[in-house]
Amino acid sequence: MSEFDSKNGDDSVNTDIFDILDEENGGASDGNAKPEKPEEGGDGAPGNGSGNGRRTERYCNMCQRPESKTSGMLQLPGGLNICTDCMQKSFDSFNSSGLDINSLPKIPIGRIQLGRITPGEAQKNVKKRKSEEEKAAEKLSMKDIPRPHRIKAMLDEYVVGQEKAKKAMAVAVYNHYKRVFCEKNDGIEIEKSNMLMIGPTGSGKTYLVKTLAKLLKVPLAIADATSLTEAGYIGDDIESVLSKLLAASDNDVDRAEHGIVYIDEIDKIAKKENMRSRDVSGEAVQQELLKMLEGTRMEVPVGAASKNPMVPTTTIDTSNILFICGGAFPEMEKIIRERLNKASGMGFGAELKLPEGMADDGNLLTKVTMDDLREFGMIPEFLGRLPVLVTLESLSRDYLVRILKEPKNAILKQYVKLLAMDEVDLRFEEGALELIAEKAMEKKTGARALRAILEEYMLDIMYEIPKDDNIGRVTITREYLEKKGGPKIELRGQAALPEPGAGEVSGTLPAGGLA
Ligand code: ADP
Repeated sequence: MSEFDSKNGDDSVNTDIFDILDEENGGASDGNAKPEKPEEGGDGAPGNGSGNGRRTERYCNMCQRPESKTSGMLQLPGGLNICTDCMQKSFDSFNSSGLDINSLPKIPIGRIQLGRITPGEAQKNVKKRKSEEEKAAEKLSMKDIPRPHRIKAMLDEYVVGQEKAKKAMAVAVYNHYKRVFCEKNDGIEIEKSNMLMIGPTGSGKTYLVKTLAKLLKVPLAIADATSLTEAGYIGDDIESVLSKLLAASDNDVDRAEHGIVYIDEIDKIAKKENMRSRDVSGEAVQQELLKMLEGTRMEVPVGAASKNPMVPTTTIDTSNILFICGGAFPEMEKIIRERLNKASGMGFGAELKLPEGMADDGNLLTKVTMDDLREFGMIPEFLGRLPVLVTLESLSRDYLVRILKEPKNAILKQYVKLLAMDEVDLRFEEGALELIAEKAMEKKTGARALRAILEEYMLDIMYEIPKDDNIGRVTITREYLEKKGGPKIELRGQAALPEPGAGEVSGTLPAGGLA
C-alpha cells in the first residue's frame, strides 16, 4: 500500500515497517495518505491498499512528484528521495533544522505529508503527552508562583535598578499565572497580561526576562522580530517562535504551553512609511502576531524554524503562554519630545527642546504613551494585545558600577573567583570601577559594554599573576587602567598584614600592561 518503492532499502525491512505503520494506522490506509498512483513501468499491480502492491517508481519527498516527472532523483539516507529540483530546498531545511543527514533512521518515511508525519515517527520526535499522574506531579501550579514581592526580591538579587520595571513585571507575571490557574466557569474571564518592554539597548530587558523565567522555572524562548516575515516570504514564519519554546521545553507540549516567549527588537516591525511594495516584515508581521498573542491553537514545526515536508508538526495552544515584547525604540524620543512640546504650546518649527522644568536626563522613554507607540508605527490591535507597558531607564554611571559588583553573578565576582583559585585575593578600587563605567557609557550600549571593557583590562592580570606564587593580593587601581601606574601587588606574607596598604608593592609591574 505504500507509495514507496521497495528499492528504497532492504525489501524485507521495508515490508515489516510498512506492516507496523499499517497497524499504527488501525490497519487501514491513512486518510491523509496520498491516493495511490498508477504504476509506471512497475513490475507489480497498482497499489490497492492491501499492502501487496509495491510501486517501482520513486516519489520526491518534497514535491511528491514521481521520478518520471522530474529530471532525476537523489536517494538520501533514511530512505528519502529528493528530486534534483528540490535538492537545494531540502538541504536548506536540513541545515536550518540542524539535522545531520547521515543520522536519519533507516526507515522509509514516505507518508510524511506537508507538516505531517507518520505516527511512529511523530512519537520519536515529539515527546508523548505524559500520563495523567506524571502530568499532575510535574504540573506548574499556583503554589509554584511566588507572590509579587517575592518575585521582585528575587529579581533584585540579579538586576540592579529598574525598580519600576521589576515591580510591574512581578505583578504582571503573578496575575498571568493567576489567570492560568483560576476557575474559568464563573463567567469572569481575566484578560492576558502580555507585556511590552521599552528601554535603551543594554538596559536589561532580555536579562530581566531571562532571570524571571529562571526563577519561575518555566521554559523561555527568545526570538528576534527582525527575522520574522509574513508567511510565504523569505525569513522565519511566526510559528518559529513557538518552535523555539517547544525546544526550550524539551519538546514537552504541556510545559511549552505555560512558558514565556520574549520577542526582542519589536520596534523593527513597526509599520514602514512610504512602502511601495508589501510590508512583509513590518505591519504584516504585527497582523500575524495578533492571534498568537491573544491565544490560539497553532501548528508548530518541531525542531525547525519553518514548516516543510521533512519536519513533523505539533499543535500548541498559546492562550496560557506569556508573551513579552521588547525594543529600544530609538526614534521614539523624538516623538515624545514633539508631543511634550506641543502640549507646552511651542510653535510649529520651534527647536525640539523640552518644555521648561523638564530635565532631559536621558530617560524620556519612560514617558512614552500608547499614542506615541501608534505614531511610531505599531498598529492599535497589536498594542491592544500588550496591555502591560513597562519602561526601563537608561543606566547611569553609578548603576553601571553597581552592576559590576552587586548582582549575584556580577562580573567582578567572577574574576575574584577565578583568581581565588590561584589563591590570589583580587580587589578593585572604586575609582577603577568608575572609569570602567565611564568607558561603558561612551559606547552607548548600556551594561552590555562592561564585560568587554573589563576583559580587555584584565587580560594582562589574568595572564601574569598566576605566574608568581608569591603574589597574595592584587588591587586594580584607576591609575593602572589609565596606564599611569601599575596595580597594587601584595606578596603572600604581606597580604595578611592587618593595615591596608602596608607592604604594598605598587608599581612593580609596568604601567599599562604586565607583559
Ligand atoms: P537589552 O536591554 O538590550 O536586552 P540585555 O538585557 O541583553 O540588554 O543586557 C545586557 C547585559 O547587561 C546582561 O546580560 C546583563 O549581564 C547586563 N545588565 C543589563 N542591565 C542590567 C541590570 N539592570 N542589572 C544587572 N545586569 C544588567
